[in-house]
Amino acid sequence: MLESKRNPILKPPQPQKKYDVIFDNEKCDGCQLCIVFCPKELLGTDPDKFNNRMLHYVVFISDEACVGCRMCERLCPTASIFIKETEIEEEGD
Ligand code: SF4
Ligand code: SF4
Repeated sequence: MLESKRNPILKPPQPQKKYDVIFDNEKCDGCQLCIVFCPKELLGTDPDKFNNRMLHYVVFISDEACVGCRMCERLCPTASIFIKETEIEEEGD
């Protein structure tokens, strides 16, 4: 197979993605599995926030952005946490 010796001047555009963490507070059991396994330590609880079952539901506690690994979504036993993925179009030159 022929290989080109030329390098592209510009990198092809890479769509960037943004991840929003969506919680269903009433379904959350506060088991903290998602908190323990989030690799970016973005999740936690707030002692002042609890649901109708008096359980401390999970909240987003960081200034850092979610990287979209979906570990929390996969591990949650009550399906109370979801990741919404949005593609961000790069602005043209
Ligand atoms: S998707 Fe990954 S980085 Fe984002 S909140 Fe869940 S576990 Fe943390
Ligand atoms: S894993 Fe699910 S039920 Fe457990 S604390 Fe996280 S969101 Fe709540």
